[in-house]
Amino acid sequence: MSRVRVAGVRTAWTTVEDGEFFCPACGGDRNYELRTGRRRLTVLRVPLLPRGTTGPTAVCSSCESHFEPSALQQPTTTQLGSLLRDAVHAVALSVLGAGGAGSRTARDAAVGWLRNTGFASCDEEQLLILLAALDADRAEPEHITERQAAPYATGLTSERELRAVLAPLAPHLESGGREGLLLEGACIALADGPYEAAELAVLAVVGDALRIPAEDVDRLLAAAPERS
Ligand SMILES: [Zn+2]
Repeated sequence: MSRVRVAGVRTAWTTVEDGEFFCPACGGDRNYELRTGRRRLTVLRVPLLPRGTTGPTAVCSSCESHFEPSALQQPTTTQLGSLLRDAVHAVALSVLGAGGAGSRTARDAAVGWLRNTGFASCDEEQLLILLAALDADRAEPEHITERQAAPYATGLTSERELRAVLAPLAPHLESGGREGLLLEGACIALADGPYEAAELAVLAVVGDALRIPAEDVDRLLAAAPERS
């Protein structure tokens, strides 16, 4: 025996936006629809009185879970991967630019790290081209700007640029991931001998931009293994 519901509230959804997001429910990059709804009182399935609007709500197209629109602010894994690769590239070049660019072991350390983090085709030649551009820039006195004269001067990546690359990544990485980025930078700095002042300055910026407390930065840099 089935009973017909005489009265109820039905919601008619309208999709106002769609795109890709990271679904926390089914755990991956998925398509979403952002929907707003209009509620109506229905009697015998006939819509009658408006009962206001609802939403907006984000709906995963795979598992159909509903989320607050704030869920769309989280980067997708694809976006995170891209942020991470940019960060690795910026840290490696900044540290090399601060010291050790002329050292084969330092360049090898940088190339090895870049290859392991998504720059599969990175080779020493590419790195040398970038570093040669840096040297040419430095060799021209008129190009020596205040920025390049600063302790963290790298030519390729200023402190502001380095921070701009690292800051969006910081909130999405566990402390181990953030510390790992700093330590890889430290290993490149140490590949050609003890830290130089300019290398330490760059690494301090890296740590700060990644929201690693200053005392932890000091501890990590002191503990980083010297490759010789
Ligand atoms: Zn889902």
